[in-house]
Amino acid sequence: MSVDLCEGCGLRIAGGTAGCQALFDEFRAREITELAAKYASTRLTVDVYCLQHPDRYCVSAKSLAAHLTGVGWAVERGGGDWGLRMLQRWLDGGVRLEKPPLPAGHGELTIADVAGATGTDDYLAALDLWARSAWSAYSGLHEVARGWIDAAVA
Ligand SMILES: [Zn+2]
Repeated sequence: MSVDLCEGCGLRIAGGTAGCQALFDEFRAREITELAAKYASTRLTVDVYCLQHPDRYCVSAKSLAAHLTGVGWAVERGGGDWGLRMLQRWLDGGVRLEKPPLPAGHGELTIADVAGATGTDDYLAALDLWARSAWSAYSGLHEVARGWIDAAVA
């Protein structure tokens, strides 16, 4: 197989976008079993990956809002399950959202930077850097994300 670029995150990997998705799926299984991650961090992995692959995972305003607020909650508000529950409740409450235009770039780091982690501490540190990388790629949407978070946790 040739080495291609993932269309979402730009990762250079055999199979391109499909290869990136396979790496993510494989890592998710390891994350839950081997790395013994807590809910908030496994959820953050999903949110960051989705933000980096918006053509597939952020098609609707609601899905974008879910992943963007999830990452914003972790990076700017310290994470925590209670906020994730409030965000979920807010999203499920039929709130009307407009989807803003998305950035062209989705961050310098990719799932490959997290998938190589050798233990739980290493994984948590890599996940934090990866989340910050994706969050800064979405800097044009920070204000709207903060508004959504404030509405959800108020
Ligand atoms: Zn990718």
